[in-house]
Amino acid sequence: MKVEDIKKILVVGAGTMGHGIAEIAAISGYKVYLSDISQDILNNALERIRWSLSKLQERGQIKESVDTIMSRITTIVGLDKTVSDADFSIEASTERMDIKRQVFSKLDELLPSHAILATNTSSLPITKIAEATKRPDKVVGMHFFNPPVLMQLVEVMKGDKTSDETAKVTYDLAKKFGKQPIMINKDVPGYVVNRILGQINVASCVLVEKKVADYREVDAVARYKLGFPMGVYELIDYTGVDVAYYVSKSREELGIRDDIPICSLIEQKFKNNELGVKTGKGFYTYPAPGKYVKPELPKELADKLNPVLILAGAVNEAARLLREGIASRDDIDLGVRLGLGLPKGIFQYADELGIDNVIKALEDLKALSGYSVFSPDPLLTQMVGENKLGIKTGSGFYTYGKVEEKKLNTLIIRIEPPLAWIILNRPERLNALNPELVSELDKSLDELEGRSDVRVVIITGNGRAFSAGADVSSFITLRPIDVIRLRTLRNVVNKIALYTKPIIAGINGFALGGGLELAMACDIRIASEVAQLGQPEINIGVIPGAGGTQRLPRLVGKGKAKLMIYTGDMVSADDAYKMGLVDLIVPANRFEEEVRRVALKIAEKSPISLLAAKLAIELGYESNIWTGQTLESTLFGLLFTTKDVEEGVKAFLEKRKPQFKGE
Ligand code: NAD
Repeated sequence: MKVEDIKKILVVGAGTMGHGIAEIAAISGYKVYLSDISQDILNNALERIRWSLSKLQERGQIKESVDTIMSRITTIVGLDKTVSDADFSIEASTERMDIKRQVFSKLDELLPSHAILATNTSSLPITKIAEATKRPDKVVGMHFFNPPVLMQLVEVMKGDKTSDETAKVTYDLAKKFGKQPIMINKDVPGYVVNRILGQINVASCVLVEKKVADYREVDAVARYKLGFPMGVYELIDYTGVDVAYYVSKSREELGIRDDIPICSLIEQKFKNNELGVKTGKGFYTYPAPGKYVKPELPKELADKLNPVLILAGAVNEAARLLREGIASRDDIDLGVRLGLGLPKGIFQYADELGIDNVIKALEDLKALSGYSVFSPDPLLTQMVGENKLGIKTGSGFYTYGKVEEKKLNTLIIRIEPPLAWIILNRPERLNALNPELVSELDKSLDELEGRSDVRVVIITGNGRAFSAGADVSSFITLRPIDVIRLRTLRNVVNKIALYTKPIIAGINGFALGGGLELAMACDIRIASEVAQLGQPEINIGVIPGAGGTQRLPRLVGKGKAKLMIYTGDMVSADDAYKMGLVDLIVPANRFEEEVRRVALKIAEKSPISLLAAKLAIELGYESNIWTGQTLESTLFGLLFTTKDVEEGVKAFLEKRKPQFKGE
């Protein structure tokens, strides 16, 4: 059978899912039979479909009239010979094996021999349902997400006996419905997406139970560091603590994992009848039962917890699904993006976080909980053995540009597409800026500017310092005229200020004098919590000479700048953050990962709009608001001539991530 042979579709069960699935089938032009156990339920379903269609019509999302689409749906109480010309059935009845088996046995009896019998079950084995029929090769899982009309993803899953043809036709039908299907080759409880979500929940529970973090910190990291649309506990509140409770309870029955007890936090909330949004209180408090307001989470709550701890279990699960051939890399990532609304697939996250860090996190989680589910999957261990650590080594689950490392006399240049690191490398002199270093920095910046595979440049230091400033030992021999002529550092600093790629200062330690001036010219300053910053030139009888007297007051205000410059005192990273001298503080032991995470986020954007934003901000800031706004609107208009904007708008409408080429 081919998808083109399908003319009539039977949907069994007209509840939450069934009515939505029937609606999609009718919108897609199919004749639909919708069956349930009473006419009342069916009438209610028809009303819900009509209401939903009218909403779609208001938004211009359907081409035909509501009546035309409705006229394709015929309701049937129970199942009888009427449905014997259906080519495809989708069962969405109550989630009970006995009911499903009864329904399937009846369908097998009534439907023509070519018909495919799909089930929308969330958790019951397809193979067991298929056993109720004489056509197990034609029984398949077709898992929609709630609400089916809006959610793009459909998981197609084979039972032990499902034929390739059945799976293919089902996949193609999901496409005809305008959905994005993914293929799951083996009957695994929970399909792909819910298994992965399940592991995010398990790890998040361990972190709170073992007091590594509190639940708000987990949620803040999920939202602010990993870009989840909702925090882990926020989502549990949203879908219902009771749902999470029953899913965990049935885990054993489903054979998903046997050594993970139910999360004590969820059990506690469940027992207190604090079920989340529906009761007005769960992990968070809501204004009234059923009234959802997004919980407030201060950004600072995301500072402490290592994000990889939340995702490591999920990466491990995904690696297993991939290694066992249950689903492909691309399908798993697509599923995670569309099914969970995450900005990236789980393997993309893993590559960014570093596979070595994922394994370390798994070991930590295992030590905390004792759960064997956190034993690293052999695929991950193998990847580490092959130095496939993700973006930082140029390959992980995906392949990136080739990582190159070049050692100059005073710098290490590490190209890790789309990022480039310039590492000041005179650690024995706290990366003091001698003429050779400045000149190598100057040339390297020019070189990197010309490379299209480099989207963001990071300047950081090797060892304890970012840079402790000019090499004072060379000052002794200088005459005043030499100093005035010595424009090199100033030139490099100015080059950075108007550099055409985003440039980040990764302040790993001391940033003093010229070192701080260098950092201040960068677009963004990310400091390690141990960093110390200062303009100590006054201590040797001079003043900052590479823009310090100009950029420091622009960042922190005149008073604070004078205080720093007059006293020559250093400020801590924390104080620097409070004054606005640095933009982000990150833990010292995760410094590189955190800087990389921010840089990669920027690297995903259009290089042309990044440049336009930079010019508008930098030049506008130094002129007046009218000139600045004129520049802004000119650049704004110019951007509409780029292919990147075309791609950006298209991707937005198609609900996918844009691939900007900088054209
Ligand atoms: P629901 O309770 O809203 O609807 C089930 C419907 O099936 C009810 O109207 C019920 O009267 C009907 N029904 C029961 N026995 C029947 C029979 N013998 N013949 C015809 N109809 C019968 O449940 P739901 O949330 O729509 O879930 C339906 C299925 O979809 C379940 O298998 C569930 O696991 C799965 N699912 C649910 C969601 C979700 O978010 N709700 C998501 C994906 C999959």
